[in-house]
Amino acid sequence: MVRVDVVNTGTELVLGRTLNTHLSYLGEKLFLAGLRIQRQICIPDGNVICEVMLERFVNCDIMIVTGGLGPTSDDITRELTATMLGLELELDEDVAKTIEAFYAVRNRPFDEGARRQAMVPSGATVLVNKCGTAPGLYLPQSDKNPHLLLLPGPPRELYPMFETQVLPLLSTLPGVNPTMSREWKFCGVGESDLAERLESRLESIANLEIGYCAHVMDVHLRCLGDEVSLNSADVVVRDVYPYHLVSVDRTSMEATVVRLLTDKGHWLTTAESCTGGFVAHRLTNVAGSSGVLAEGHVTYANTVKERLLGVEAVVLEREGAVSESVARAMAEGALRLAGADHALAITGIAGPTGGSDEKPVGTVFVALASKGAPTYVERCFYPTDRETFKWRSSQRALDLVRRRLLAFPLEL
Ligand code: AMP
Ligand code: MG
Repeated sequence: MVRVDVVNTGTELVLGRTLNTHLSYLGEKLFLAGLRIQRQICIPDGNVICEVMLERFVNCDIMIVTGGLGPTSDDITRELTATMLGLELELDEDVAKTIEAFYAVRNRPFDEGARRQAMVPSGATVLVNKCGTAPGLYLPQSDKNPHLLLLPGPPRELYPMFETQVLPLLSTLPGVNPTMSREWKFCGVGESDLAERLESRLESIANLEIGYCAHVMDVHLRCLGDEVSLNSADVVVRDVYPYHLVSVDRTSMEATVVRLLTDKGHWLTTAESCTGGFVAHRLTNVAGSSGVLAEGHVTYANTVKERLLGVEAVVLEREGAVSESVARAMAEGALRLAGADHALAITGIAGPTGGSDEKPVGTVFVALASKGAPTYVERCFYPTDRETFKWRSSQRALDLVRRRLLAFPLEL
């Protein structure tokens, strides 16, 4: 097993000002490349990097250090590393020219700080920074150090460098073989139910490592293995959960719905009350949604439900805005209004106030009206904070569209 340490430097990280997103980014990319982080260490800028290197160099095969390569006085990773390893720093003319040009375009002086970024420890390979100034540096393994990668802090500089230069470099190291993995995404089934119904059958498959990850109404099963074992797992999953399976390539619920609508050439419209447009928001995050969503309405007030969607005042009065009849009328009204193929409507009580014994906070009605099919209305109960309530309601609503497009049963 190749041992990988990741060291994230930056005082802003330990002060909690900046979220250390490099850890999740690197963890995932390395994992797919066949490497797993054995240790991650987050430290402030400054000398402590030397302590970490002294302590960890003997315990890892690859060390990835992020941050501290920039032009400011707190960016000293390059200098400290060179000193520690007894390496001369030399100006790399090519890098210096590139940085100078970068500064000239932006009317910034090519001062000492800027120049420092072009200093390269002897024996290091320069990793070109196409999105910023400070290049990354790679020092191959020696009797003093493991394979050492010094990479820039800003994510927009790190990501392209990592993908185009670091990953190809790592793939040439001995013992690094890409991991095959697959991730199944489910909606409407709990993590423990998933484990209970799948585990024994998956465990009988040779060379398969199983992991679960539960998000709210979005549970993932992740398996590592080879082509054969992953295909066997896929057969089991589809056999047990033919209707709950949303995707097998990490595609989101909304992207799955947009793809299904696109394939069928169908239009969807929305009439949202308590979710405040969240369903439309999620759909419009997906590229290509303009071909499936012509309009989406936030009909919060009763008067708007009446005026825009044609919900009858007497129904609103008699049954209340949060009711099966109103959800149904909203969906059917939106379908007529847009001339769409499908219309989703959501009306509920997000709380913390507004609940009653009959309809407590968390009650929500989700309706799906479709051309040529009976309107489906479901009463759900999601007693939680407002944001999670919106997420869960939208998730169930989108799942209804997904199921209808696939001609699956709508009931869970
Ligand atoms: P640096 O080159 O270390 O000064 O980093 C420049 C900027 O990159 C920092 O101000 C942060 O905004 C960002 N950055 C550095 N490290 C991380 C990290 N681990 N996660 C997310 N952002 C980071
Ligand atoms: Mg910094």
